[in-house]
Amino acid sequence: MLADMRQLPQSVKDLRPSGPLQVPFRGPKLLERPLLNKDTAFDDGERNVFGLRGLLPPRTSTIEEQVSLELEHIRRKGDDLERYIGLAALQDRNETLFYRVLLENLEEFLPIVYTPTVGRACQSFSHIMRRPRGLWITPADIDRVPELLRNARVDSTGAAADMGDVRLIVATDNERILGLGDQGAGGMGIPVGKLSLYTAGAGIYPAHTLPVSLDVGTDNEELLADPLYIGYRERRLRGPQYDDFIEAFVVAIKDVYPNALLQWEDFKQHNAIRILDRYRHRLTSFNDDIQGTGAVVLAGVLAAVRAIGRPLAEQRFVFLGAGAAGTGIARTVRAAMVAQGVDAATIGRAIVTADTNGLVFSGRDNLDDDKREFALRAEALAHYGLGALNASDRLSLEAIVAAVKPTVLIGTSGVAGAFTEAAIREMAAHVERPVVFPLSNPTAKTEAIPSDILAWTGGRALIATGSPFEDVVVDGRNHVFGQANNVFIFPGMGLGAIVAEAREITDEMFLLAAETLASMVSEERLAAGALYPAVSELREVSRQIAAKVVCQSRDCGVGRLYRDGEIIEAVDSAIWFPTYLPYSPSV
Ligand code: NAD
Repeated sequence: MLADMRQLPQSVKDLRPSGPLQVPFRGPKLLERPLLNKDTAFDDGERNVFGLRGLLPPRTSTIEEQVSLELEHIRRKGDDLERYIGLAALQDRNETLFYRVLLENLEEFLPIVYTPTVGRACQSFSHIMRRPRGLWITPADIDRVPELLRNARVDSTGAAADMGDVRLIVATDNERILGLGDQGAGGMGIPVGKLSLYTAGAGIYPAHTLPVSLDVGTDNEELLADPLYIGYRERRLRGPQYDDFIEAFVVAIKDVYPNALLQWEDFKQHNAIRILDRYRHRLTSFNDDIQGTGAVVLAGVLAAVRAIGRPLAEQRFVFLGAGAAGTGIARTVRAAMVAQGVDAATIGRAIVTADTNGLVFSGRDNLDDDKREFALRAEALAHYGLGALNASDRLSLEAIVAAVKPTVLIGTSGVAGAFTEAAIREMAAHVERPVVFPLSNPTAKTEAIPSDILAWTGGRALIATGSPFEDVVVDGRNHVFGQANNVFIFPGMGLGAIVAEAREITDEMFLLAAETLASMVSEERLAAGALYPAVSELREVSRQIAAKVVCQSRDCGVGRLYRDGEIIEAVDSAIWFPTYLPYSPSV
């Protein structure tokens, strides 16, 4: 599998270290560098050469033994937040071991290093943070953003064996952290966690990553009132000053890290869409909440279409919830239909959205600008027998389902129980295999519990969820619920963009990522109802998505010109597996 590195460009060969490493640190200084530290795995020779003798207990351990010990420590803790703190401490001490533990136990620790536990960590961030990680940029720094970005890279000794050029940045302004709203400086937990998943999921070497908190203040009263709050203690920057701040950040990235991919993360809906659209052609960037969500949900739909044997063009969608996630998914579904040659009128009828005020349609009262894009027009309303609606009419989900007869129902409302028994039974009355995705997180907010949906549809529904759910046995048959987790998309997208040195992330890349993911659901899983691969298959999924992204970057003229035969080789050569390399002292 390993590439013949002579063929590949130097910039790709440099994406992960290969031994032996030239290391300029000795003694306690070496033990303090998380990317170089091996703890008790330093062997006899290294202990002599690097002045470590006596600083470590006498026994030399293997990384496998260290993993067993770490699992003992973490599993002994009685609470997930404590496990989060324990894992963060390990990451701060020995990053190779942290990633080995994470990679080998992804299913167990994904919900700790990321949602849902990371949400609790963000809420209490000021009180649990042990060692700062990443970069905080505040409005007071607006004239020195490049300097701050450089600080993140340059080692104080000037020697930088474990440092790399930053190739991947995840930045948040902390305003919509998961479903928890404005978390101020505590939002840093999200870029840190997300980048850990990039490394675990796609092998992006940690030294190439940079988590950024655009700490523009907070309107969270609780945080402002906390005397120990660690963030920028001002009300949120808004309006033109906010825009200037984002502009200064983007300009500085182009200046300091011109090869970096930027992922916008957890911005509030309006800013999320605006910033994505403003910068996506100026800077290699994407928004995971919008585009990653769109792609992962489309993948689930495509897997369902595979199971049912009816094409995407024949599906009718009802979206309950027309926010950032709903809009992102609807945009991606529309793009997939356009790519398949479906005509505009059919698409206009096939995508139906609903919000707190019921069906979203042209001319309705209380219609936000963001929602007009998918408002049902007169022709479609007439098609569904809804031509007589008044501007003030609020159609319930049951009424919408009865009129539209959707084949796919997607929930991004954040409202527990919003998929009522009546609505699901109504849907099942018209469709052989109803496709039902209750996507709202956390578990307590899911629109319907999978076992209920199965009961209301006589076991016929194909279900994907936002949060993980246990398998259910109905009439002796085991049903598996795939999780529509963005982690199946963004690590591969990032890896592909980095290897391709892509100048832009295109919509086609997300469509290809969705198709690739859908094609990787095994027949066995599909037969059991699972519309996504198992999390344990994540690295292979990311590898395949990355290869498609590299190929697409080349074909649409935004990335490096690899030959076909070089692509998977280039991707493989960039994937880091957490293992200790031999060291030799640098002179
Ligand atoms: P958002 O606040 O931008 O949007 C929520 C939308 O739901 C709004 O349009 C609102 O009008 C609508 N809504 C609220 N109550 C409703 C009701 N009773 N009936 C109908 N519509 C209602 O939030 P978002 O970022 O779009 O996220 C929404 C949910 O989707 C969250 O719970 C989030 O966890 C989940 N989500 C899941 C995934 C995934 O599974 N991969 C990805 C992203 C978001």
